[in-house]
Amino acid sequence: MGLTSSLRRNNKSFLRIFMILVLSCIPGRTNLCSNHSVTTPIDLPPDIRSSLDSLDLEGYISFNDVHNASKDFGNRYQLPPLAILHPRSVSDISTMVRHIVHLGSTSNLTVAARGHGHSLQGQSLAHQGVVINMESLRSPDIKIHKGKQPYADVSGGESWINILRETLKYGLSPKSWTDYLHLTVGGTLSNAGISGQAFKYGPQINNVYQLEIITGKGEVMTCSEKQNSELFYSVLGGLGQFGIITRARIALGPAPHMVKWIRVLYSDFSAFSRDQEHLITKKNGFDYVEGFVTVNRTDLLDNWRSSFSPNDSIGASQFKSEGKTLYCLEVVKYFILEEANSTNLVRCENISSDKSLNSLDHTLGLLT
Ligand SMILES: Cc1cc2nc3c(=O)[nH]c(=O)nc-3n(C[C@H](O)[C@H](O)[C@H](O)COP(=O)(O)OP(=O)(O)OC[C@H]3O[C@@H](n4cnc5c(N)ncnc54)[C@H](O)[C@@H]3O)c2cc1C
Repeated sequence: MGLTSSLRRNNKSFLRIFMILVLSCIPGRTNLCSNHSVTTPIDLPPDIRSSLDSLDLEGYISFNDVHNASKDFGNRYQLPPLAILHPRSVSDISTMVRHIVHLGSTSNLTVAARGHGHSLQGQSLAHQGVVINMESLRSPDIKIHKGKQPYADVSGGESWINILRETLKYGLSPKSWTDYLHLTVGGTLSNAGISGQAFKYGPQINNVYQLEIITGKGEVMTCSEKQNSELFYSVLGGLGQFGIITRARIALGPAPHMVKWIRVLYSDFSAFSRDQEHLITKKNGFDYVEGFVTVNRTDLLDNWRSSFSPNDSIGASQFKSEGKTLYCLEVVKYFILEEANSTNLVRCENISSDKSLNSLDHTLGLLT
């Protein structure tokens, strides 16, 4: 009881401190159509820089080359930090957060973890504050645990593409993905992490067994569904506001040896959404279902988002309508080698008729 209430108290106060520290690094969302370049320096006490410089770190702190960390993928904000921390250890990050807490709120110093900076609204920026380059925290290496419930222990700064490469060596892969894999574990677990497997396994934040977190007070805490669960569920999908993820235990499953990959084009939204709903509710259906909308400005085959190649274009080439909105369902069936008896499984199939649902159900019937 005492421990629980003290934890609750601790959680509340760290939440408060962290919210103040990190919320203040998110720029306002007004004037959404213009670029925000802030050149006016924030009024920092003069000894802040030297106090950061004097920290005993295994990694290092840089006051130069802050240009890249002043922008993100959205390229709408230009907010240079005072410094970038390149941590070599979890303790480096803890030291930095403790130091900032120690300086107090009058220091005006903000802090933000940065993965690959693929956010759009300046979430990983800290104007005149400290950006923590999570990518430099790559050790210890990715550790794979095989067994009944396999998992990978990875750094919060690790890229999903590296996790895929490593887990495949063991015939395993994360259960839930993003489409684009050059994103970091900390970056997507702070959001949700969504791809075509989410309808089956949930987003990436549903596929984490345990986290190691630096709290807003600089404490290092382990949390999971059963241990410090309030912290666990706050950090997952917490937009970087509730703690810094330094390690994560990611759920793995068997990696498919072969796949059947099918794309279906629609010009009618109702048919598209009806088919999508049908497919995600179907038992023993596809393993991956994703839909996207594309404006057919030129030719579908020239559209970078379409992923249709001129070589598999028979159906796709029908859709030449200039400027028309098209809808594409992308579905995949996975196969483990022993189960796969068809020779055409890796062949990509494009269906582009109004009988698409029947075609999909028919194909699924042949495959299962
Ligand atoms: C080309 C592109 C493709 C994308 N594809 C997908 C997709 O298929 N599916 C999908 O779900 N999303 C997708 N996204 C969105 C992407 O998942 C988010 O923008 C994600 O936050 C980016 O990860 P990042 O590693 O670059 O994080 P950053 O942009 O660096 O950080 C994002 C947020 O997370 C916080 N953060 C970063 N690391 C940590 C950490 N270790 N601990 C705590 N907080 C942290 C940051 O402070 C910031 O608030 C895509 C984005 C782009 C630009």
